[in-house]
Amino acid sequence: MTALLVASTNGRIGLPDAMAVLRGGGSAVDAVVAAIRPVEANPNDHSVGYGGLPNLVGEVELDASIMDGRTLATGAVGALRGYQDAILLARHVMEELPHVLIAGEGARRLAKEVGLTPVELLTDEARRIWRQRLDSVGGPDRAAYLDKVRDMVGRMSDDPELAADAHGTVNVIARDRSGNVACGVSTSGWAWKYPGRMGDSPIIGAGNYADTRAGAAACTGRGEMAQRCCTAHTVVTALRAGLPLDAALRAAAADLHALDDPYRGEVNIVAVDRDGNHLAVSTVPGKTYVFLRDEDDAVVEAERLHIPAES
Ligand code: ASP
Repeated sequence: MTALLVASTNGRIGLPDAMAVLRGGGSAVDAVVAAIRPVEANPNDHSVGYGGLPNLVGEVELDASIMDGRTLATGAVGALRGYQDAILLARHVMEELPHVLIAGEGARRLAKEVGLTPVELLTDEARRIWRQRLDSVGGPDRAAYLDKVRDMVGRMSDDPELAADAHGTVNVIARDRSGNVACGVSTSGWAWKYPGRMGDSPIIGAGNYADTRAGAAACTGRGEMAQRCCTAHTVVTALRAGLPLDAALRAAAADLHALDDPYRGEVNIVAVDRDGNHLAVSTVPGKTYVFLRDEDDAVVEAERLHIPAES
């Protein structure tokens, strides 16, 4: 079988290294980690890892998950502070603990135990963006947290410019030369989120799901919607039931669009089926995703299928 990598557009920088892993006989799980780590290290990506935008109180909290479609083994970390290697830590959870999801202080403790390097995740630039927007909704009064969160989320839903900074995530799906599929997701989540909030990214079935026998899917955008619909699992379940990739994605999008959500926002899905077909959808027009196949010399950027919320 030929190797394949499919990612959200911000995953582009990690794909060449990940393809080298696959061409060298590495596993899909190895490739997912290789693809995501450079994105987590990139200070210019304010949605993932180092340089990610912080929560309401100015702390960067990372969520990540990884799933091995060969065995359905999976690991995830949530609300991780002080370490940028969230996807690597998710892999440690998958491979070394009898658990699936470790959050908060436990995730930090595990990062220390496995020897990851601590890092101040909040960059000056991310702090500046955080501060500016927080001030614009009424200052840092801790007693008004919830009002501010609601106001911020509501305003982000209406204001594409604000929303553009506020969210983002990296999705990577890899298929290795043995035909096994793995999927990884890493994010700093919604900026200005309530402390401890976890989105869809660390929740298996919501933001990430992989089963080599059917395919894989991963999400970006308003995680609360993907959490409520188990979106990634919906796509893979539809593939398992024999739907073509495009119909599987449309089924998941229909579930999302049926939600009554006052903070409705953009939701995007990337997916691969068991034959290596790939496709991505978005509620927003003009969005893209990227892929790199064994036979390609360079990463290819393709437009996502636009499925408007009212369809
Ligand atoms: N899905 C992520 C979350 O809800 C954020 C995003 O992709 O925009 O945390």
